[in-house]
Amino acid sequence: MTFEELNLKPELLEAIGYMGYSRLTEIQEKTYQPILEGRDVLGLASTGSGKTLAFCLPLSQRLLETNINHGVLILSPTRELSIQTANQLHGLLYFTPLHAETIYGGNDAGAFDREKRALEAKVQFIVATPGRLLAHMRNAYADMSYLRYLVLDEADKMLDMGFYDDIKQIIERLPADRQNLLFSATMSPRIRKLAVEILRNPVEVSIAVAKPATGIQQQVVLVQDEGKGRYLAHFLKKLKPEEQAIVFCSKKKLLQSLVNRLNNKGIRAAYISSELEQADREAVLTAFKSKQYKALVATDVLARGIDIADLAAVVNYDVPPSPDDYVHRIGRTARHNKTGVAITLLSPLEMAKFALIEKKLGIKVPKVTAGTEFGETFEWNPNFGKKQKKRPLKKTSISPESPLKAKKKPPKRGSSAPKQAD
Ligand code: ADP
Ligand code: MG
Repeated sequence: MTFEELNLKPELLEAIGYMGYSRLTEIQEKTYQPILEGRDVLGLASTGSGKTLAFCLPLSQRLLETNINHGVLILSPTRELSIQTANQLHGLLYFTPLHAETIYGGNDAGAFDREKRALEAKVQFIVATPGRLLAHMRNAYADMSYLRYLVLDEADKMLDMGFYDDIKQIIERLPADRQNLLFSATMSPRIRKLAVEILRNPVEVSIAVAKPATGIQQQVVLVQDEGKGRYLAHFLKKLKPEEQAIVFCSKKKLLQSLVNRLNNKGIRAAYISSELEQADREAVLTAFKSKQYKALVATDVLARGIDIADLAAVVNYDVPPSPDDYVHRIGRTARHNKTGVAITLLSPLEMAKFALIEKKLGIKVPKVTAGTEFGETFEWNPNFGKKQKKRPLKKTSISPESPLKAKKKPPKRGSSAPKQAD
């Protein structure tokens, strides 16, 4: 379906034209009408499928058709995603009288005032992280009664980050007469529960949920921890000059040293994590988007929602914490019908965890063994590294020599697969 067929306000259609979009994505097509009609919607679709516009477009049209003194509250898990969503809104709303503002904190003194003014001015789109919004809501100026639309974007991530109570508190202050939308790329039992609590008789649109996007060429590379840095540099050097990669690494303390290693090998890289100052996080992301770096090393802070045009590759430097994290991390590439590569570097002890991710997602990712130049080689064994079930032990049986305390040994050099976890 094309955007012309939607009967959009000309101001919105013109903006869509400037964005260069011609056809709606599947999630956009299926949720447009129900949202426009005022229904609550649960929208589930894979990463990069255009969920942002799927809620921004019908809500903008609806505000223009009904009452532009009403507003939309978009709750978003991270500051970066809030900024990105607001940027997309700024483009979409350019020719309309509607405005969008972010509320996500930051250390500069002006931020709180700017956010306060946005609430006082009853700006039509407020894109907020829950904690910071609550800080404003404790003040008298925060009159939430004009916010008749609520969007929970990347709801699963917000729950992961412990925002459940914050979200509930915020919702209590919103008018009861409102429309609720919940969008996510993954559907966990917790999201289901949140959806049941918040959405009223929702229309559920679910497209290939919790599956990696189809344009992603996935690959596992088996490599010992000691060889990962070198393999990463080798992989990045093989990319075309204009191609970029995000490297995910769960361990914050490794980020700087990884960047140093890459820099030493002549690869321009920077890192981003929640510990950086907000201004630095934004500066790094902007520099990466303008192609000043080949690689951006990041914690899972970047895994959700962040959209970097034409990102060629994602590297999982370590096994992602969960199946959903895997889907979201690799979903930073191959966005909107594009293709991309996602490689996961696995050391022996990470194999069992990855095997579980494959099982839960119902996928099988091709595996290759890194060459001997990257250190000891080993083969794929889905049971290696498996956690042993803890059996209750009698107190007397615990001794320093207890087999449960024995260290896991890495597999032997050579190609024979390790047989057992220990
Ligand atoms: P999601 O939230 O589902 O992960 P986004 O909303 O971030 O995905 O959109 C992914 C990318 O697709 C963005 O770069 C966005 O600009 C682009 N996009 C969205 N809708 C369309 C469309 N209808 N046509 C072309 N590109 C689109
Ligand atoms: Mg999104």
